[in-house]
Amino acid sequence: HDEEAAARAAAATADNGAPTIFDKIIAKEIPANIVYEDEKVLAFRDINPQAPVHVLVIPKVRDGLTELGKAEERHKDILGELMYAAKIVAEKEGIADGFRVVINSGPAGCQSVYHLHLHVLGGRQMKWPPG
Ligand code: C5P
Repeated sequence: HDEEAAARAAAATADNGAPTIFDKIIAKEIPANIVYEDEKVLAFRDINPQAPVHVLVIPKVRDGLTELGKAEERHKDILGELMYAAKIVAEKEGIADGFRVVINSGPAGCQSVYHLHLHVLGGRQMKWPPG
């Protein structure tokens, strides 16, 4: 799927600060398959899964955290919350013994949605290097 990957990279955009589709998912205006939720984070299945388990973990309040490359000191707590939620998701999905967490940051990182999110991937043998 090199072509698909190239097309996706070309389609990767830059942050313009606008609200994203994830705001609608948080507001439950768009249905999502939620696998975990607490006060601060929401985790739901990716609509275009790249592995048998592919869950996105996002902060419920973006607070300027569009991409990891723009994180500030004030985001340290939520970054920890997101990472810990990824582990909870892995446990819930039965993949805690082996999984991958990915954050795409910025156009060169192939980010497409500018509301910081962790990809939790598993349920198959992951490979290295990633594309
Ligand atoms: O890291 P990146 O920004 O490219 O990831 C965005 C992810 O959000 C993609 O994996 C895409 O499939 C997913 N997505 C989704 N539901 C939407 C829009 C995008 O799960 N409505």
